[in-house]
Amino acid sequence: MKVLLGTRNPAKLAEIREILGDIPGIEWVSALELDLPEPPEEGKTLEENALIKAVTYAKRAGFPTVAEDTGLEVEALGGAPGVFSSRFSGKEKDYEANNRKLLALLQGVENRRARFRTVAVLALPDGRFWKSEGVLEGEIAMAPRGTGGFGYDPLFIPLGESRTLAELSTADKNRISHRRRALEGLRPLLNVLVKNPDIV
Ligand code: IMP
Repeated sequence: MKVLLGTRNPAKLAEIREILGDIPGIEWVSALELDLPEPPEEGKTLEENALIKAVTYAKRAGFPTVAEDTGLEVEALGGAPGVFSSRFSGKEKDYEANNRKLLALLQGVENRRARFRTVAVLALPDGRFWKSEGVLEGEIAMAPRGTGGFGYDPLFIPLGESRTLAELSTADKNRISHRRRALEGLRPLLNVLVKNPDIV
């Protein structure tokens, strides 16, 4: 069964493929490969954006779709940047500018607790959907470290770790990540779907 990965972000695609790629009977196809345009993220919450992406892509592709939305929630900033994580600095998806702004706002701030939250949605072309959430607790480093991952990874130290996510291998990030925890919640549903294709 074909299932669409509802993102055009190559780093996310690699992570999602590594996390869910072992489900027998699923042929994963990406929005990048099909050149489907990214739906506008106009929701006010991660939940709304994940749902918009999954349902829009599923309708456009005509087959089941997994999409997700992720935000970094910093305690001392009242949960910001949250749903605005990709446009925090004003420019869309400028990872370095976002990280610089985050460090500047936290200069002299003692409480550096933060978490990544991912909402993943599995949607069918007729609009039915299922949702799953994953969280990774941690703190914001004093300066960026590491070259792996993407986005805020060089600034995020998971709880119980001394390294940032960007200093971990992809396999190690995927073992503990917010994205992993959210996507694993969809695995039982994907298994049911593969065995009962008439549900679609
Ligand atoms: P999106 O809207 O889900 O694509 O993600 C919003 C922003 O959050 C991205 O542009 C990244 O800056 C950041 N982000 C999402 N996932 C991760 C991650 O796993 N690590 C670090 N940053 C991430």
